[in-house]
Amino acid sequence: MKKQDINSIKQLLSTTKKIVIVPHKNPDGDAIGSTLGLYHYLLKNNHKAQVITPNNYPNFLKWIPGENFILKHDTQTKLCENLINEAEIIFTLDFNAFHRTGNMETVLANSNAIKIMIDHHQAPDDYATYMFSDVTMSSTCEMIYHFIDMLGDLDLIDANIATCLYTGIMTDTGSFRFSSTTSTTHRIVANLIEKGANNANIHNNVYDTNSYNRLQLLGCALNNLKVIPEFKTAYITLSQKELNTYNYTKGDTEGVVNYGLSLEGVILAAIFIEDQQEGIIKISLRSKGNFSVNEMSRAHFNGGGHTNAAGGKSYATLKETVEKFISILPTYNKALNNE
Ligand code: 5GP
Ligand code: MN
Repeated sequence: MKKQDINSIKQLLSTTKKIVIVPHKNPDGDAIGSTLGLYHYLLKNNHKAQVITPNNYPNFLKWIPGENFILKHDTQTKLCENLINEAEIIFTLDFNAFHRTGNMETVLANSNAIKIMIDHHQAPDDYATYMFSDVTMSSTCEMIYHFIDMLGDLDLIDANIATCLYTGIMTDTGSFRFSSTTSTTHRIVANLIEKGANNANIHNNVYDTNSYNRLQLLGCALNNLKVIPEFKTAYITLSQKELNTYNYTKGDTEGVVNYGLSLEGVILAAIFIEDQQEGIIKISLRSKGNFSVNEMSRAHFNGGGHTNAAGGKSYATLKETVEKFISILPTYNKALNNE
């Protein structure tokens, strides 16, 4: 972020402001961790801050400090829209295009508030007054740490802020193993532990709180796993019927796509999840090396993300969506087989 922008933001935050903080729809650990980490920081600086999520998030995030104060736009629309219309500053975290907030797109686009984007996805839209966008960052939580650092306030990081930021860095780096994890990431995480983040508890809260149904659903997903060796590709499907059988709740399929990628020799993995309520197939794509699933998702599946992790959706049936996926693989033959 430019020094000049940081100075302007410092000036802006030197008096009490009405601030709304928004993550993307279907928020994940990084989205909730970064919004709440920033929220606690702003409260400490006497601002009137409110986190508003477009919709609900998984139960394994429902212990993060301050989580109980989050408002959800889909169930508390009027209240949320009033707060957005009154806000002087809106932070948009872990996304870079308003459509990623689903039904909040219009109210955000119409707001006169100063917008500050902090995000690590590719191809940011041009809506922000101040933009901190860096695709090399492991997570938005890591960027919030840098942001607080640039404002000269590392001393203000307490156990609550540290816990929020640790959580998002942990989930977005697959517990510090993806290639986006740098020595700086580890230094930050070490600092966060010193500031009071209880790493073992955080890991336990996020990863060791499975329901029996969730494990059975994972079993079903692994049973459906298909491999296409000639394209070093693996994919998983989950139909609405299968989700219903195992009493699916939000977050139950988080991370399942990575099992495909864990197969020896596989560099492209996909999961196709039927969502009858929304009338879509939700798609997650993961890759290893230089193969860009961001490009694949933008070109074919109405989505985007990062080089090695992207999401998207399809309006066709589950079967048709899988057929389309298989049919486009030959056009990526060179990229898949040269890795
Ligand atoms: P996931 O597969 O876990 O939903 O998403 C993987 C990554 O891609 C995340 O960083 C997420 O924010 C991003 N992503 C997911 N869906 C979309 C989408 O529809 N559009 C864009 N631009 N990014 C997405
Ligand atoms: Mn993220």
